[in-house]
Amino acid sequence: MIGVYPTPVQRLESVDMWVKRDDLTSPIYGGNKVRKLERLIPEALARGKKRIITVGAAGSHHVLATAVFGSRAGLEVEAALVPQRRTDHVVENLRADLGVGATLRPVRTYPGALLSMLLHMRKDTYFVTVGGSNVTGSLGYVDAARELAVQIRAGELPSPDAIVVTVGSGGTAAGLVAGLALENVKCAVVGVVVASPAWAVKIMTRRLVRATFVAAGGKDARLLRDVPLELVTNQLGAGYGEPTEAGRRAEEVAGEAGLALDPTYTAKCFAGALECVQSARFKNVLYWHTLSSAPIEPLLAGAPELPARLERLLR
Ligand SMILES: *Cc1c(COP(=O)(O)O)cnc(C)c1O
Repeated sequence: MIGVYPTPVQRLESVDMWVKRDDLTSPIYGGNKVRKLERLIPEALARGKKRIITVGAAGSHHVLATAVFGSRAGLEVEAALVPQRRTDHVVENLRADLGVGATLRPVRTYPGALLSMLLHMRKDTYFVTVGGSNVTGSLGYVDAARELAVQIRAGELPSPDAIVVTVGSGGTAAGLVAGLALENVKCAVVGVVVASPAWAVKIMTRRLVRATFVAAGGKDARLLRDVPLELVTNQLGAGYGEPTEAGRRAEEVAGEAGLALDPTYTAKCFAGALECVQSARFKNVLYWHTLSSAPIEPLLAGAPELPARLERLLR
């Protein structure tokens, strides 16, 4: 195991919500990508691979998590990266990628990234798609749903009416829905879409729910009806990585409650969670926190300044 489980559940009184603290999946680098890597890295090693190739936006948490935990498992990590709006957070993540020894290839677009990856594939290479959201990665969130089911049965929190989670590449939400259905936890999952085009994200996420359910041993797809997945797009704003006003307000509210958010994913999701609480459609709302809260400084110790060849990744 590369992370530390179970992650705590916590009541946030000021906003009338529960929180699943997946920011704490690892003290080295936390967040939701760690659970996907719990499944992906062992699969790479079991197949005798020496190297992982993956893809993401410049500041990708998935690429950084893969670089951190892949290299600790003795795998080389390479990533094709596409441009993203410049923020301090994005620059830090790029430097941390380099600091833990990842090889980074800047490309202009996702199709360009695919081409770059194909060109660099070898027999010893394990390919991981964007966000780690293939079926194997999503099974990490089936495990997370099972973990939550144990916490509910132990009385650590009331059974939620809605779980609110960010949807970027969809693996987190898909694994949760499949796992909750398998565990007979009846509750709505509200997926706040933060990546574009939203219609494509929605189709891919729903496909991933079914494929992950089957891969986790699900036989009767009717179980999925007890875990309705609502994919909402009203927090997306101008697109992936573009901050919104509702997100900024959500960051303030969460900050007062002691939770740090980021503008790309969790601020938009938390804004959606606040909406769910206010709508009175749901009594018990659980916000699933997916952003690492581990300090970045140790990963930046010994990391180089950003090399000029990576400047073009920042818009
Ligand atoms: C990657 C990421 C997400 C989105 O998860 P997906 O499984 O790609 O939908 C949400 N929050 C944070 C902080 C992330 O890094």
